[in-house]
Amino acid sequence: VTRAYVGLGSNLGDRERFIRTAIEHMNRIPESSVIRVSSLYDSEPAGDSTQPRYLNAVAVLETELSPERVLWNLLLIEKRLGRERVKRWGPRQIDLDLLFFGDRVIEEPDLTVPHPEVEHRAFVLVPMVELDPTFVHPRLGVTVGHLLRERKLLSAVRWKGRFWY
Ligand code: ATP
Ligand code: CA
Ligand code: CA
Repeated sequence: VTRAYVGLGSNLGDRERFIRTAIEHMNRIPESSVIRVSSLYDSEPAGDSTQPRYLNAVAVLETELSPERVLWNLLLIEKRLGRERVKRWGPRQIDLDLLFFGDRVIEEPDLTVPHPEVEHRAFVLVPMVELDPTFVHPRLGVTVGHLLRERKLLSAVRWKGRFWY
């Protein structure tokens, strides 16, 4: 069994509800269960700052599936929740990113793990540190706690409350 870390983001409609529903769907992925969820964080949109603010969280998914299979299931959940792929970094009801898959490093055409932007994003590092500050980024070889402290992150995140799961 592997611990996968999944980043959730929503910036359209009832953001908290989309995140909550996505987590319920993730818990129904075969041979997998959501064992922990971080608090919710309100953050500045990455890329295009004219779009609405995001609500973000990170969930820990324990799974027996392959990383490719987990990603496939995450993309399916995005579709079920009505996400329309208009453009990259555009507004969306729900975005599910596979941030880490245990200590695996994967470079495939449709799957890069760890997610290549992890170290640049406060809205990923802050919830990761909440879940486990000692988690080691397998490509960079340093802990997420270290990354959060050393990086001069451009955007701030605001704590929006505990997530009761
Ligand atoms: P970013 O990846 O910078 O956060 P995004 O989430 O807006 O941007 P999407 O449009 O959601 O990008 O994803 C585009 C594609 O990225 C997906 O169809 C998927 O195949 C691919 N991809 C590669 N690696 C990953 C990963 N670790 N997690 C999620 N998607 C990934
Ligand atoms: Ca994303
Ligand atoms: Ca994505």
